[in-house]
Amino acid sequence: MTTMDYDVAVIGAGVVGSAIARELSRYRLDVALIDSAEDVAMGASRANSAIVHAGYDCVPGTLMARLNVRGNELYDSWCRELDVPLKRIGTLVIAFGSEDEKELHNLLDRGIKNGVPDLKIISGDEAREMEPMLSKEVTSALYAGTGAITCPYEMTIACAENARLNGVKWLLGSPVTAIAPKEDGLYITAGVYNLKAGYVINAAGVHADEVARLIGDDSFSIKARKGEYMLLDRTAADLKKVIFQTPSKMGKGVLVSPTVDGNSFAGPTAVDIEDKEDTSVCAASIDELCRLARKSAPDLNLRAVITSFAGVRAQPSTGDFIIRPSDVDKRMVFASGICSPGLSSAPAIAEEIVKILGDLGAKLDKKPFFDPERQHIKAFRHMTEEEKKAAIAESPLYGRIICRCETITEAEIVEAIRRGARSIDGVKRRTRAGMGRCQGGFCSPRVMEILSREAGIPMEDITKFGAGSKLVVGKTREDGENA
Ligand SMILES: Cc1cc2nc3c(=O)[nH]c(=O)nc-3n(C[C@H](O)[C@H](O)[C@H](O)COP(=O)(O)OP(=O)(O)OC[C@H]3O[C@@H](n4cnc5c(N)ncnc54)[C@H](O)[C@@H]3O)c2cc1C
Repeated sequence: MTTMDYDVAVIGAGVVGSAIARELSRYRLDVALIDSAEDVAMGASRANSAIVHAGYDCVPGTLMARLNVRGNELYDSWCRELDVPLKRIGTLVIAFGSEDEKELHNLLDRGIKNGVPDLKIISGDEAREMEPMLSKEVTSALYAGTGAITCPYEMTIACAENARLNGVKWLLGSPVTAIAPKEDGLYITAGVYNLKAGYVINAAGVHADEVARLIGDDSFSIKARKGEYMLLDRTAADLKKVIFQTPSKMGKGVLVSPTVDGNSFAGPTAVDIEDKEDTSVCAASIDELCRLARKSAPDLNLRAVITSFAGVRAQPSTGDFIIRPSDVDKRMVFASGICSPGLSSAPAIAEEIVKILGDLGAKLDKKPFFDPERQHIKAFRHMTEEEKKAAIAESPLYGRIICRCETITEAEIVEAIRRGARSIDGVKRRTRAGMGRCQGGFCSPRVMEILSREAGIPMEDITKFGAGSKLVVGKTREDGENA
């Protein structure tokens, strides 16, 4: 088999690897973005709290603190260029009495040291004016005006799509299982591909320690910490702000927040787990989430839960992001141990990695024709009546609603498949088909038919999210056979 030659291979197409790939695509470099999953955004970047943190809770002087604040600043331009939703609605950390209030002051101090703008402690009444759903028991709150909400998988997809537009090659469904350092490059085995790369960026999320060990570097380990959520229908609440309770040593605590699409959610729990791929959800966690969500916002309609899900954090043994060249072979650069606030920090991590590559001697010549822009799939539900008529006139597929809950048309689904979706969840994340109240009960079979037709995948091979998640076991009868 021939060996493909790249300047840089990025392992991991989560938000961190995809942001790095996008940043690298500004330069005259041959870059590959590799993932073991069959789509981008299949790890922690798929299921998290979607908050662009202000940066007040990271320990001053850490990489997390610096890159969170810088990442938060970069979000405006990145989201504008990539057509990703960003709402700077502000966040509140709430206190229920003097013990919690001490913690608010600690957070304020940290925030000031970290250079977080628009940060202040306000009274319980001021907080309730900002967020009327807040409990009457809240005595005061830390308000962060730069806190924002976004869509994490949309951000990841957008970075990866923009990187591809600027020449980055996607190699998906390609687990990296071996890396052999040789004088002329790092030789990588990734599924069916053999690659040689001048540099490897290790952005492999919870598996970054295993990827580091492929070159004999065992300087850190990654533990998996699961976070479960419950998602509520749009009718459940009209939240104005993200509401955090005070953090614990396990993380930022359970929050209640609106999503950019108008739903609300509560979560995450924080449980250390052995199986790094375990995204199961259990009833006990949901009960606990209900209890804590009610404490923050007693009138939240918890009967309007439409689904639950979980994500897995990559907790590094170092306690901070690991962003540096490996001591074993400097040609492997770590973007590893990226736990929360990794989503918020991703654009800044990307800048940092490019700087490190420059310091290591990589040739960084800017491309004259880098295009920073990428458009979201044209969404029928956001069009004016005029635009809808024009869209249908241009493509009759805009006139066929496939997902009734979210008003998603066949044209949008076809475009998602054209851009790389190969599973029901891949279509869902790109279009919202199946994200509504019925959670795909109505539209999934129709999405399967469209996937089968457009991507040439037999119906019985269509999956929910890739290998091991087939939806049907076979045919009950062949075409033309009597029922
Ligand atoms: C419950 C929870 C809540 C969070 N909330 C927030 C928040 O509100 N705000 C915030 O800023 N951050 C938050 N985070 C953190 C944020 O989600 C992560 O920091 C971020 O998504 C990490 O991105 P990543 O690209 O490093 O990892 P991932 O998204 O996990 O991507 C890593 C990729 O590497 C691939 N991979 C692994 N091994 C291999 C291999 N051998 N070969 C090829 N590919 C491989 C995986 O398939 C995966 O796609 C939260 C995380 C969790 C779990």
